[in-house]
Amino acid sequence: KRIISSIVLLLIISISIYSQKKSYTERADSVLALMTLEEKVGQLVQYSGDWATGASTGRPASSSDELIRQGKVGSFLNITGAAKTKKLQKIAIEESRLKIPLIFGLDVIHGYASTFPIPLAEASTWNPSLVEKSARMQAIEASSAGIHWTFNPMVDIARDPRWGRIMEGSGEDPYLGSVMATARVRGYQGNDLSANNTILACVKHYAGYGGAEGGRDYNTVDMSERNFRDFYLPPYKAAVEAGAGSLMASFNEIGGVPSSASQFLMTKILRDEWKTDAFVVSDWNSIGELIPHGVAKDLKQAAELGIKATVDMDMEANAYYYHLADLVKEGKVDIKFVDDAVRRVLIAKFKLGLFDDPYKYCDEEREKNTLVSKEIVNATKEVALESIVLLKNEKNLLPLSKKLKSIAVVGQLAKSKDDPLGGWSGMSDSNRVTSILEGLQNKVGNEIKINYAEGAKFKGNDKSGFNEAIQLAKKSDVIIAVVGEGRYMNGEAASRATLDIPGVQEDLLKELKKTGKPIVVVLMNGRPLTIPWVQENVNSILEIWNPGIKAGDAVADILFGDFNPSGKLPVTFPRYVGQIPIYYNHKNTGRPYDPNNHYTSYYMDLENTPLYPFGFGLSYTTFEYSDIKLDKSEIKKDESLIVSVEVKNTGSREGQEVVQLYIRDLVGSVTRPVKELKDFAKINLKPGETKKVEFTITPDKLKFYDINMNYVVEPGDFKVFVGTNSVDVKEASFKVIE
Ligand code: BGC
Repeated sequence: KRIISSIVLLLIISISIYSQKKSYTERADSVLALMTLEEKVGQLVQYSGDWATGASTGRPASSSDELIRQGKVGSFLNITGAAKTKKLQKIAIEESRLKIPLIFGLDVIHGYASTFPIPLAEASTWNPSLVEKSARMQAIEASSAGIHWTFNPMVDIARDPRWGRIMEGSGEDPYLGSVMATARVRGYQGNDLSANNTILACVKHYAGYGGAEGGRDYNTVDMSERNFRDFYLPPYKAAVEAGAGSLMASFNEIGGVPSSASQFLMTKILRDEWKTDAFVVSDWNSIGELIPHGVAKDLKQAAELGIKATVDMDMEANAYYYHLADLVKEGKVDIKFVDDAVRRVLIAKFKLGLFDDPYKYCDEEREKNTLVSKEIVNATKEVALESIVLLKNEKNLLPLSKKLKSIAVVGQLAKSKDDPLGGWSGMSDSNRVTSILEGLQNKVGNEIKINYAEGAKFKGNDKSGFNEAIQLAKKSDVIIAVVGEGRYMNGEAASRATLDIPGVQEDLLKELKKTGKPIVVVLMNGRPLTIPWVQENVNSILEIWNPGIKAGDAVADILFGDFNPSGKLPVTFPRYVGQIPIYYNHKNTGRPYDPNNHYTSYYMDLENTPLYPFGFGLSYTTFEYSDIKLDKSEIKKDESLIVSVEVKNTGSREGQEVVQLYIRDLVGSVTRPVKELKDFAKINLKPGETKKVEFTITPDKLKFYDINMNYVVEPGDFKVFVGTNSVDVKEASFKVIE
């Protein structure tokens, strides 16, 4: 009886989901039936900002208000504020023929007015529920300011830290990347996309943008389909499976075809394989860039390629605006392409509930009460605390003692209220930021004397401040040096060919070292830096990334031990730029690196290991792993097995540990990585406490693209590794049979 009633329940649920879905399509079609060709094209046009009279950059001559009135624009980006968006929405609803609501998009990458840590930092928390909460808070704040849609999550896998946009993603690993992508989509879109405090997610940049040759932004991407599907594609897929309502086509070409013209990416993978009705927006002018890419001779042909690839909305290229209607009239583009695109855009507008209440995101009172509210600001700190990674802690210099008499704080970044925000934080007011210096001062009050000297800027060669910093250091018990990258040294169009700490900051550290005083280096940056000297020569190193508006409060809590660091690196840190790519889940090769054998895969002129491996991060306490056990030594292809391990807190402080599970398929029809992250758990342990952690290895975790490009589990021998990072692991073995 129980079984029957649950089947009935399931049936009802699926019918209701089905009919709801169908009703979106039906509702979209009922609108579509009323539209002229020009109005259809209008839904596929997006512009940034509004304008009064004829714009430059080839935009239409009439004002943006006029375009709205005529139904010739369906979306704007970079227009914010409840009042402003309401004013424009009102034109669409009251003055356009069909009253189709506009959709307002913005890059809410790590916050709106209250900036959270950069996404790479958030990934360092290895805490998906916290990352979901962050996205939820970002949505609550942005939606109160009229925003319906964020161009996030950025899920591009990045194995090359020279690429500045590595800061916008979750690092190098497809599993961690997928978990974070899912968390963010859930956070932004919530349980009910039609609520007034949820926003549409946009998975970007589809696809493979992080694979740019040489780590140079916008550069060519070329890789095998196997590499693409195994390592790059999973986070996009996870985000789509989590229900992401839109995707953004990337700037890059991949395998000779620019994404914005790629039938393979859009039609085959997105529509045929993943069967999503999410709509695709181009990246900024990426349809127009089909011309310099060399696959379109002019904007008209670019429009044709874009629409036929099912890139539904044209961001800023003017291609659809000027040419799409003509292409249809001339018979070059079947109206079906336009109808399908419009349908998908309308479905998103229906899902957001904009047809029911176009003004529900335009409540000025709500906006006033929501922006930089206590709850949201507190959440930024909560995330910052968990995102900070302790990289070195010689003789337990950290946490600092409250008994110190004086601390020398040095570095331009220590005082900066701007750089802690990181890139993509344009809506944030840096006056609200707690600098590292302020955080420390607030923390210790009059108990410890905090001396500050800038010492060095993060750019340029000026050493004139060194002396002051050195003198100050000599008078102080401990040196805290905040060094790294400025806010705009990472992010879009911020690729670097060198990855050392920029400017003369490291020279300053070398001088400070001569004082003999203990040094804590606090790294503020948006990507892995190459810091072998620092690792060798200072006592403690804290990777704080760009921690957001509560930077100083979070860092002070960690430095003085009010919070025990628990972050882990989501990306490998090389020693030298020349080691790149140096991701942990590499192949074994026929001649795996052996320090004692010349004829193996290695560089002869430098140390071949990474500086810090993927998954690395220390704590103020210590953890011991023991008793790795499998509940079965042999399973069938469709069966699961359970791995367990005992983790003990062997130190004297309570702490969180990220227990990581890796797998290796020893013999396959194609080569397999030496290790692949397949699960993790963040646990809390009191001093002396032991917890048993269990992971279930499901068939899904063993699948890969075999020699025939089928996604399967292959029978054979597997190794499983559990540990505190990708190198320090305990291992066990099991076998999969037919
Ligand atoms: C970036 C996108 C961003 C878009 C809109 C582009 O330059 O590549 O990530 O969403 O601008 O601001």
